Amino acid sequence: MDFRPDTPKHFGPIPVPHEHLPVTHQGRADPQKETTVPRPNRKPKGETIRAREIREGREANRRKRRDSRITLAPATPPIDPGTGKPYRPMSRAEVMAATEGRAWAGDAADVETFTPCSRCGGPCGTSAPYSQPWRTHRACRSGTTLQSRVRAAVTELLGFEIGFSDAGLIASQVAVPNYRDLPDAQPHTEPRRAWGHVDKRKLRKVVQSLPALRADAGLTPHPCESGPCAWCSTRLATGWMNEGHKWADGSAAPLCGLCSEQWVSRGGLSGRLSKTFYEEQRAAGWNVLIGRDLPMGHGPDPSFRLYAEVAPADHPGTDEPFGYIAAPMRPGTPQYAERIASEQMERATAFEQRRAERDRAEREQAAAWGYGVPS
Ligand SMILES: [Zn+2]
Ligand SMILES: [Zn+2]
Repeated sequence: MDFRPDTPKHFGPIPVPHEHLPVTHQGRADPQKETTVPRPNRKPKGETIRAREIREGREANRRKRRDSRITLAPATPPIDPGTGKPYRPMSRAEVMAATEGRAWAGDAADVETFTPCSRCGGPCGTSAPYSQPWRTHRACRSGTTLQSRVRAAVTELLGFEIGFSDAGLIASQVAVPNYRDLPDAQPHTEPRRAWGHVDKRKLRKVVQSLPALRADAGLTPHPCESGPCAWCSTRLATGWMNEGHKWADGSAAPLCGLCSEQWVSRGGLSGRLSKTFYEEQRAAGWNVLIGRDLPMGHGPDPSFRLYAEVAPADHPGTDEPFGYIAAPMRPGTPQYAERIASEQMERATAFEQRRAERDRAEREQAAAWGYGVPS
């Protein structure tokens, strides 16, 4: 197996046996030189971007992508061929279709002062990272998704932070494109305010309507018609799923979003866990309870049971997840922390007592044998 592409840059040339060298290297006079070849991932001196793409085989891919792009009739709304639905406002695919064959009129590298950032449109100095023909803020480079653009724009324009799922909801209502993707954007022009190309008033309105958006998207906790969660017994949750679980009387039992996520990630869909045999699902349910995945080979507490295993016939459920477990036995509650602390305390005291007893017995034995034990 050849691990060379994974070798870190600072390791230097990799020694290879003489017979594995390319023919051109085998005839070298210097025996020291003959044991190495240049690392395949090192950038040769003076290489252009295009040359590098050709060397790494990316040029061919790019051409393939460009050829396979769809061309759209001007008046029809652009349709995503993958989903068959209209594109979201200024999604990447829509932008690609709209800017087909676009030419840049200038180059940020030719400007001595500030140029617009390719993402936010704010002023970039000459020290900002450059990728032909645009400059981009160092901070802007890390956020490439639609959600991260929305988050950056909301922070800049409205002055507060929002989460990723909220950003996704907002992105479906207001266009937050890269500055570069605006029809009239050019890399060498006068910069504007960061995210100044986003409709601030509309953005504020959409952010204010977030509760309604969340409710529409099913992101506010709500009850499920089939009862509480079969694993964690919670009555209010998001993302209710029917994964085929059953209550004791055979009626359908739902899983809440968190539990069904764990169910899927533990291979529930592929039939690796039995739907009716709750004992097999306890480890997965325990992961939801403790909020992290147990390492391999560790099981849940032997007394742990899922709600469907112990629920009364009318399975009323509880307000909080795993509320059917007494608080001192449920990780995450203050009573649980207290119990663990007091148990540790007891163990430590018992250990001290045993050691004191052993010392006393040793001293007694030593006295019986006629010599003292140095203390
Ligand atoms: Zn920027
Ligand atoms: Zn649940």
